[in-house]
Amino acid sequence: MTAVLNNTVTVFSKSYLPLSQVNIKRAIILLVTGKAEALDLGESSAKTIQVHSPTMVLVVPQQIRLTIPHKEKAWRIPAVNRREVLRRDKHTCQYCGSTRHLTLDHVIPVSKGGQDTWDNIVTACETCNNRKGNGTPEQAGLVLRTKPKAPVHPIVAFAAQFWREHKKVQEEK
Ligand SMILES: [Zn+2]
Repeated sequence: MTAVLNNTVTVFSKSYLPLSQVNIKRAIILLVTGKAEALDLGESSAKTIQVHSPTMVLVVPQQIRLTIPHKEKAWRIPAVNRREVLRRDKHTCQYCGSTRHLTLDHVIPVSKGGQDTWDNIVTACETCNNRKGNGTPEQAGLVLRTKPKAPVHPIVAFAAQFWREHKKVQEEK
């Protein structure tokens, strides 16, 4: 019983966009109150989770779709912060790939008008950062391995991940 309750269910919006993952209790509440319905994504999603109570068995689909409009919370791109930059860059120097002695580097130095923005701050090891000094990557002969980006809306990120994993499941079949 407790293991079953650790299951999660993917919630889709009324317009079929994957929104989030909720725990099974929350999903059951949405289903029994009529705020959501089972969503069939084809054979790979035919799996259901059975929840037994003393008097009945509830069959909960792994994907549900809201039948009510989804109210979106206001979201803004968060301010640049060290923890998120390191996470985005997978704790890897964006110039040489080193994972040691990491610092944050302004791609265009502040002295040359570079700003504290997501696309101008990358993870760099001390060696590359020193080599770059107050110059641009080109001046130091360094090349960025990836183009630094700002975090995307959590729903967009969730949807991208959901479809990536869904596709993987389909391919494994
Ligand atoms: Zn480096």
